[in-house]
Amino acid sequence: MPIRGLERLRRFENRIIDIARRHPALVRLRQYGYSRRDKHGFRHPIYVLEIGKKSALRKNPFALVAGVHGLETIAIRVLLDFLNEALNPKSKVYLREIKSGKLALVTMPIVNPGGIVANTRSNPAGVDLMRNSGVDAESAMPFFGGHRLGNLLPYFRGSQPEPEARQLMRFVREYLFPVKKGLAPALDIHSGYGSLNHLWWPYAFTKDPCEDTGLFQAIAKRLKSKLDDSFYRFGPQSESYTTHGDIWDKLYLECHNPAKPRTGARFLPFTLEIGTWAQLRQNPKRLLKKKLIFNPDKESKKEFIRAHRRFLYELVRLTKLGSLKEYRL
Ligand SMILES: [Zn+2]
Repeated sequence: MPIRGLERLRRFENRIIDIARRHPALVRLRQYGYSRRDKHGFRHPIYVLEIGKKSALRKNPFALVAGVHGLETIAIRVLLDFLNEALNPKSKVYLREIKSGKLALVTMPIVNPGGIVANTRSNPAGVDLMRNSGVDAESAMPFFGGHRLGNLLPYFRGSQPEPEARQLMRFVREYLFPVKKGLAPALDIHSGYGSLNHLWWPYAFTKDPCEDTGLFQAIAKRLKSKLDDSFYRFGPQSESYTTHGDIWDKLYLECHNPAKPRTGARFLPFTLEIGTWAQLRQNPKRLLKKKLIFNPDKESKKEFIRAHRRFLYELVRLTKLGSLKEYRL
């Protein structure tokens, strides 16, 4: 067993448990499921934190997800930092509405714990969980967009939904799909694509616009006015590249069936892709270490985390507490 990898996972797990321990009245920790068994026989637990009052969790949740790709640990750090700050009354991004019962956060901070231990993008079966949903792209990028050549190569689609992908889908169906009114947003945090930060919305499988494009654009416009707009790029994922098997496509298609009238809240999946390649240009030696391609170096780590804190705060406020009046919801 790679002990260093296991220690890395334990450090993140301890931070998750610590959030629950420090806010016993507001936070509930659930063990939601297990990862695929790894080659050493381990199945790693997948945790969920429910943050806020139970009634707010039913009526007004915002879902946060990270760690789908085991190498992208900066994404988990950004998520855990935000949870700590949002619960801290002294923080600039404190969300008082959690305590007052208006808002809840629900989070699966590490979807792919086996990937953290093995230091791989894929899960323990060598499957890329963001290529694993079964949705076929109209014209995916060759190889990178997902393939069925086998689990020795990255971006492998797998042949059936992996346990981690199934847990994530169950999580969204349990917490977001039953919401009756308003918006039901989810933010999935990744890192490593390009030198800019991207906020993507559906679709990944086609360049056709999704049904909520107007709403996504309105949210992007508001966010740009609140943040340094050169720092983030906004658009459908297919504007960057198209892929097979995106889990968010699968879930979005599930609740936007044109044959059925829409009921309940509008499920809005966002993906934040934190760009870490600007540093590669400054220091090309980083290319030799795969972990450094997907994560900033130690000195800029804190700066990175702080920069995205505000972004998450504004996205949560806008979609859960904002008015967005031009859209009758
Ligand atoms: Zn990723």
